[in-house]
Amino acid sequence: MTTVAFIGLGHMGNPMAANLVKAGHTVHGFDLLPENLNVAQGNGVTIMANAEAAVAGADVVITMLPAGKHVLSVYESVAKSAKSGTLFIDSSTIDVDSARKAHEIAQANGLKSVDAPVSGGIGGAAAGTLTFMVGGSADAFATAEPILKPMAGRIVHCGEAGNGQAAKICNNMILGISMIGVSEAFTLAEKLGLSHQSLFDVASTSSGQCWSLTTYCPVPGPVPTSPANNDYKPGFAAALMLKDLKLSQEAAESVGAATPLGAHAKEIYERFGAEGHEASDFSGIINYLRDAKRQ
Ligand code: NAD
Repeated sequence: MTTVAFIGLGHMGNPMAANLVKAGHTVHGFDLLPENLNVAQGNGVTIMANAEAAVAGADVVITMLPAGKHVLSVYESVAKSAKSGTLFIDSSTIDVDSARKAHEIAQANGLKSVDAPVSGGIGGAAAGTLTFMVGGSADAFATAEPILKPMAGRIVHCGEAGNGQAAKICNNMILGISMIGVSEAFTLAEKLGLSHQSLFDVASTSSGQCWSLTTYCPVPGPVPTSPANNDYKPGFAAALMLKDLKLSQEAAESVGAATPLGAHAKEIYERFGAEGHEASDFSGIINYLRDAKRQ
């Protein structure tokens, strides 16, 4: 079986690494936080003293880190420790420019690389049902696919270097905008005397149908599993939605794409976070939108 170095064993990285162990791989892990290393050890990951030691001797290196600067600094520090031809998979959500720089570092050191961000959250990471959006050469993708399988429900090759990150931020820009749209419709319905259930019954089978309504409904009741029924506990935290909306706006600016609703969604989530709701589920935005004085 393959030896995988896993760097970044947080909320997502730890359950992903556990699924690689369950699939029979040897996993060498490293994180800066001792408590995350303890969890990893309990899941069968062999803990290494630093990132360089984790990478030495590995066939595949997976990073699951907070942002582009962390990914680039890890790539720069470990690239020389890796065997020639080692596959680097970055599954963090980062900006497209940093993703492309990470590919350049890998290429300059004779390594294969893919950017492979995920959707599906902590639940998908634990269940091994994440969707991976992969950018990189056909050859690197072919090497990555069997490694990703134990962590994945779906794996999509999106094209060349950076295109996985491009797909991720475009998808999440749709999600942020659609959640605000669905929330606005429920707040309008409330004022018009239309019940949540009636709006749901119509819109979920009409042209207003979307994931933010039918899977993640922002009012309690119509979809019993949505975070609205659990006091808006995440789920997908508002801080992570804001991070992805910021990434989409940075990307839009760098290529000159007009995304006015994406820009407005980012501002709304910024104000929501500034009021102390960063840790709330992102569907809690409905409670913010209900207060018309803020708009
Ligand atoms: P997290 O903060 O729980 O985990 C990140 C880990 O990286 C931390 O344990 C941190 O100690 C470690 N780290 C930071 N710098 C390091 C370094 N130089 N060397 C080793 N370890 C280092 O975050 P998370 O929720 O696991 O998210 C990870 C990535 O996945 C982020 O890019 C996030 O946007 C993305 N993501 C998260 C979710 C989610 O629901 N949490 C969903 C999809 C994508």
